[in-house]
Amino acid sequence: MAANLSVYGYVGLTQGAAHLIEAFGSDALRTTYMARMYRGEWTGTMALTEPQAGSSLADITTTATPAGDHHLLRGAKIFISAADHDLTDNIVHMTLARIAGAPAGMKVCRCSACPGGASRVTTSSTTTSRSPASSTRSAGASAEHAPRVRRAR
Ligand SMILES: Cc1cc2nc3c(=O)[nH]c(=O)nc-3n(C[C@H](O)[C@H](O)[C@H](O)COP(=O)(O)OP(=O)(O)OC[C@H]3O[C@@H](n4cnc5c(N)ncnc54)[C@H](O)[C@@H]3O)c2cc1C
Repeated sequence: MAANLSVYGYVGLTQGAAHLIEAFGSDALRTTYMARMYRGEWTGTMALTEPQAGSSLADITTTATPAGDHHLLRGAKIFISAADHDLTDNIVHMTLARIAGAPAGMKVCRCSACPGGASRVTTSSTTTSRSPASSTRSAGASAEHAPRVRRAR
């Protein structure tokens, strides 16, 4: 890291994403993601920005549709630092989304832990972390939605 300061970005983003899961995730999410991320086996990102929503995050249009113990995400994110690399087998994207059908504003947004590889498709199965704004339901990671491990190219 001393030789390449920008490498710290990967560590810092991973730490932040893991901490989000630690603070708001279910036990299952913590077990599946958090420890591996803190150990550096997997890295993490913060996927907030969209083509039409940068500073104005209240304008995001990515939706999270409840589907059993997880949510289905649909939308587009841009400018996501450390979102695609071969340093680790998996990249966990903490993805900001609007609960499907909810009115405008930030109070109806939630953050989902999106297993690596899912960012390559339009609609993806995700496991979710509990949102501070929507804490009535916390989802756990099921076997069906266990992280998809990316293959090194
Ligand atoms: C190197 C880099 C890495 C990034 N990594 C990530 C990442 O990991 N995850 C992620 O989600 N995003 C990431 N981003 C995106 C970043 O968060 C956005 O670029 C930022 O939020 C600004 O959004 P924007 O580019 O759409 O600019 P805009 O929001 O369109 O802003 C354009 C200009 O308008 C000004 N402006 C905006 N709103 C107001 C206002 N209300 N009043 C006055 N002036 C205003 C701004 O200061 C700016 O000068 C990254 C960007 C860069 C450059």
